[in-house]
Amino acid sequence: MTAQTLAPYRRIVVKIGSALLVDRETGLRRAWLESLAADVARLAKAGHEIMLVSSGAIALGRSVLKLQPKPLRLDESQAAAAVGQIVLARVYSEVLGVHGLEAGQILLTLGDTEERRRYLNARATIGTLLSFGAIPVINENDTVATAEIRYGDNDRLAARVATMMSADLLILLSDIDGLYTAPPAHNPDAVHIAHVAAITPQIEAMAGAAASHLSRGGMKTKIDAGKIATGAGAAMIVTAGNRMSPLAAIEAGERATFFAPAGSAVNSRKRWIAGHLNTLGRLTVDAGAVDALSRGRSLLPAGVRAVHGSFARGDTICVEDESGREIARGLVAYDAADARAIAGCRSSDVERILGYAPRAAMIHRDDLVLSPARRAEGLAADLAQDWESDHA
Ligand code: GLU
Repeated sequence: MTAQTLAPYRRIVVKIGSALLVDRETGLRRAWLESLAADVARLAKAGHEIMLVSSGAIALGRSVLKLQPKPLRLDESQAAAAVGQIVLARVYSEVLGVHGLEAGQILLTLGDTEERRRYLNARATIGTLLSFGAIPVINENDTVATAEIRYGDNDRLAARVATMMSADLLILLSDIDGLYTAPPAHNPDAVHIAHVAAITPQIEAMAGAAASHLSRGGMKTKIDAGKIATGAGAAMIVTAGNRMSPLAAIEAGERATFFAPAGSAVNSRKRWIAGHLNTLGRLTVDAGAVDALSRGRSLLPAGVRAVHGSFARGDTICVEDESGREIARGLVAYDAADARAIAGCRSSDVERILGYAPRAAMIHRDDLVLSPARRAEGLAADLAQDWESDHA
């Protein structure tokens, strides 16, 4: 790709994959990490606010504990993470300290970003760390997170952090230098894509599931991360991080894929709704409802064709069209059983069916956020104003 200056991006989240930090044979790749720290220091001195989302706790713990190269049980990976995370924190503190920067460790569990009150709290803490000039070093709290409450991979965690902190740019340093027309490991003819204007179903289809032995992610989770980040108004860059000074390399024009932010930004509450990682149900809606939602209306029971999943009033659920494409997310006003009972009914019949005074909408427009692809074009992307209202 052509040289990509990072200058316009004030707040930047950098995600560092395990395979970059830890070599299976030799352990921590310290020289590489030092070169990354020098990049971070240069950007911080130029006025950027940098947050690091670093994987590597489990891989590093394995290496420190000299565990056999076989799959670990959950409790074993959690124990490995406990050992690895403390080393990781120390090393970041050392390599950033060389440049006069302080590192602050933040370990998140899924509930810290899915629950509104905890989300606001985590956001305030990270914001304060930034205001102190420190560099947040963030990871999943692997020692306590079990399967059902995990982010699962740090690509999605990094995207969630980027949206939570209203970052302008998310950089995923990976073991692959961007998106190809097909997973390149199995397709010698795959062509690299330098610029993605919008994450369409065609783009998603290209991602396949290219995962390496250490990272959990693969390109699919990077595209998922891209949907979260670009939908909230952040740009995303995916590039190979294994070269020295990987951030300088982006600016020097090394190969990468740039994902443009979606055309319009949404307010911070809607960003929280849109970024949910675990949605508990789905509503299938008819074409009339798709049209109404695209024009900023609430979702009425009449347009709902089917209700899937089990959810309670106030949960975040997906809205999809009849071909199964997600068109919006929102906080639903009815429990699943009631939603099933009134799906397809006119609003005036709802009280008779349920026996209680209805809310007019299944999802009120204030609680609903359209998927980026659906967001009406032409709405001004006023990122600056959004940023200010978030930080007021
Ligand atoms: N949190 C995990 C670790 O630090 C990594 C998860 C991931 O790389 O996606 O080992």
